[in-house]
Amino acid sequence: MFKNVIAPVQAWLLSRGQCVGCGMPLKHGKKKSSENGKEKIICKCGRIFIHDKKAKKYRRALFEEV
Ligand SMILES: [Zn+2]
Repeated sequence: MFKNVIAPVQAWLLSRGQCVGCGMPLKHGKKKSSENGKEKIICKCGRIFIHDKKAKKYRRALFEEV
C-alpha cells in the first residue's frame, strides 16, 4: 500500500524533471554517456536516471543500465 502512494509522487517528480529522491532538477545532475538519444544522468544523491531526449522524458535507470 505504501508503494501505491509513493509511485504517483515519483512519476509526478519525474514528469517535472526532478529527482525522485531529493527533488533536485535533473538537468543539474552529472551527465554521462549519451547513446541512441538517451542520456544517463547521475544525481548528487546517487540515483541514476535516463533522459530520453526524443521523448523529453526522464525515468529511473533500469538495473542493467546502471
Ligand atoms: Zn537526487
